[in-house]
Amino acid sequence: MTASIVIVGAGFSGAVIARELAEAGIATWVVDGRSHVAGNAHTERRDNGVMVHVYGPHIFHTGDERVWEYINRYGDMVPYNHRVKATSGGHVYSLPVNLHTINQFFDATMSPTEAAAFIAERGDASIDTPVSFEDQALKFVGRDLYEAFFKGYTQKQWGVSPTELPASILARLPVRFSYEDSYFNHPYQAIPRDGYTPIVEALLDHPLIEVTLNRVVTPADLAEAEHVFWSGPIDEYFAGEFGMLGYRTLDFVEEETTGDFQGCPVMNYCDVDVPYTRITEHKHFAPWESHEGTITYTEYSRLAEPGDIAYYPIRQVREKEQLLQYVEAAQKATGVTFMGRLGTYRYLDMDVTIKEALEIADEFLACRREVRQMPPFMVNPL
Ligand code: UDP
Repeated sequence: MTASIVIVGAGFSGAVIARELAEAGIATWVVDGRSHVAGNAHTERRDNGVMVHVYGPHIFHTGDERVWEYINRYGDMVPYNHRVKATSGGHVYSLPVNLHTINQFFDATMSPTEAAAFIAERGDASIDTPVSFEDQALKFVGRDLYEAFFKGYTQKQWGVSPTELPASILARLPVRFSYEDSYFNHPYQAIPRDGYTPIVEALLDHPLIEVTLNRVVTPADLAEAEHVFWSGPIDEYFAGEFGMLGYRTLDFVEEETTGDFQGCPVMNYCDVDVPYTRITEHKHFAPWESHEGTITYTEYSRLAEPGDIAYYPIRQVREKEQLLQYVEAAQKATGVTFMGRLGTYRYLDMDVTIKEALEIADEFLACRREVRQMPPFMVNPL
């Protein structure tokens, strides 16, 4: 260990903090157990020329000016409008649920006003404050659309009934009464021309940042550090003292062929009897490129076992109770800050990760100036 400030994890959280500290004249050591930087946002150009999102689709989208300006400093972000299709009951539909989906599904020609009234009538008005994913769906889209697009997919993705999942997961997806079919509502949507990994490499490319890959560290290894920024799993920091937190992991079956496999970047498979959740065709994430070859990922979701890569924090009742114990332990610890998706056990998008990392760096610098103690979290993970 060369620098006394250690950043565990070379994903967006770690790289942004390292960069901000370096710009302020503070040296850091960034260490990551994997052989590459960028965490699950890692991209790799394959021999057939296609840029692959190695850990599944990552589309950058944000409404935050600071984050947008920041990422543009380190990479060439190409505007990209993400559109997703869904196969359900033997038909292909437009997602997220929009006027086209509604008219296709109900075999109708409704106007926006008619569709809004029609869906409002189908929604379950008796649900006042939706708590579960299922409540949220039944309230806003009604049983037919819920069963066609959300129930089976969610069951496969999360391995539990939508009645046991929080409403917040569905709140990620808009429902629109227009033909706007962009998957996200944010004003800035883009994919980096050369992938995400060179952006993270550019962030880390500074004389005050030392990066070590392929090295797994434990808190005991870092006992001498002045401060540790930990973007690994919070339960791992405490050696699983309160039990390991549950994650979903993904298995990708990769295939290389030629031509156009599915004509779109992501096709969701909403029926519960189809074992996979979606197929991603990577070259469609770079419509400005042209390739004869193509690479697809067929995606299967399952509970993460020890040694698997963690993707989605489950955050059900059991995990919430454990998380509370970890948060209490973290609040008693000194000299460590938890950050990012694994460090705070939250379903974070890349833009939020960057925003929070910038705020953590700001706070760290302020704490140094004002001689205050750096808090363990900037956002309470509970
Ligand atoms: N979802 C669904 N049907 C779909 C797409 C998404 O039920 O066709 C639900 C599912 O529970 C998923 C959540 O909405 O976990 C969020 O979807 P998103 O596309 O944001 O997931 P991500 O791309 O982050 O895996």
